[in-house]
Amino acid sequence: GCAAEPPRIRRLEESVVNRIAAGEVIQRPSSAVKELIENSLDAGASSVSVAVKDGGLKLIQVSDDGHGIRFEDLPILCERHTTSKLSAYEDLQTIKSMGFRGEALASMTYVGHVTVTTITEGQLHGYRVSYRDGVMENEPKPCAAVKGTQIMVENLFYNMIARKKTLQNSNDDYPKIVDFISRFAVHHINVTFSCRKHGANRADVHSASTSSRLDAIRSVYGASVVRDLIEIKVSDEDAADSIFKMDGYISNANYVAKKITMILFINDRLVDCTALKRAIEFVYSATLPQASKPFIYMSINLPSEHVDVNIHPTKKEVSLLNQERIIETIRNAIEEKLMNSNTTRIFQTQA
Ligand code: ADP
Ligand code: MG
Repeated sequence: GCAAEPPRIRRLEESVVNRIAAGEVIQRPSSAVKELIENSLDAGASSVSVAVKDGGLKLIQVSDDGHGIRFEDLPILCERHTTSKLSAYEDLQTIKSMGFRGEALASMTYVGHVTVTTITEGQLHGYRVSYRDGVMENEPKPCAAVKGTQIMVENLFYNMIARKKTLQNSNDDYPKIVDFISRFAVHHINVTFSCRKHGANRADVHSASTSSRLDAIRSVYGASVVRDLIEIKVSDEDAADSIFKMDGYISNANYVAKKITMILFINDRLVDCTALKRAIEFVYSATLPQASKPFIYMSINLPSEHVDVNIHPTKKEVSLLNQERIIETIRNAIEEKLMNSNTTRIFQTQA
């Protein structure tokens, strides 16, 4: 028979395109929190506090003491692809900031209501302005403000019914938010972080600025974790063709947990690396079957041209040049540490 007539191809309305794209960047409340914290850190904040209502669906509020946002920039702040961090594609190779694509704030305005309060150095007052669908809803209003920026996101996914339902049905996102902040607090030890449920007196994460990594881990994950950590440092600087450095803390034979905690920063970005995580789990279960769910904090530094930060819309995964060799080197270093710590332990027990 005759094939049916093909359907007409139409151009999607811009607002539909933007909402679809926004849903990809902001997958859940915790992704919004991560983006906002990264913006605060990019702004040089030394203090970041987060308040959350209803797992982030009702309200997310992130306040920092960073450099603030210029009054002149407020009109385009929440447009898609507006950023102060990148100007040419080549800059991506050397970029040090966590943001670069100018999509996070815009995305939040397409799937929620965003209000920004900000003040820059030397100003007598700040400004407050709300955004929807990328644009300001009103002229910025002068207001009292202390140092930095506060960003409030209300009614996330109000216009994405299915997403909102799934998130309401699933366990709420608050534990994920706490988890992100805990990780940032362990890496950025000179920044004070706090996170609380809106209206609660007690913070669920509270880290003070410190010069000691172990202090930071202690204040977030507790003293019992710190007691069982071993320091680890690796580099292959001797190899002529690759330079990478890793330093961190890994748990020893006494650390027993139900699941692995893996806090990984590559060039100061909080990322996942499934291959590395698997390799580490494998060493632990081979070497310390009793303690096979380790606690791992690892900071890896590579030349920035060896890291492609642009492979995932949420920037969650990165791809590394020489990934296999790096993983192998780290794997061996961990194995050696664990073997040594295991013998020490047996020795101590016998003594
Ligand atoms: P990106 O971080 O990729 O540049 P965002 O949409 O996250 O894109 O932010 C857009 C711009 O808004 C940033 O480039 C920055 O100039 C500004 N900005 C966002 N949050 C803050 C903040 N907390 N403090 C200062 N400036 C900010
Ligand atoms: Mg950003």
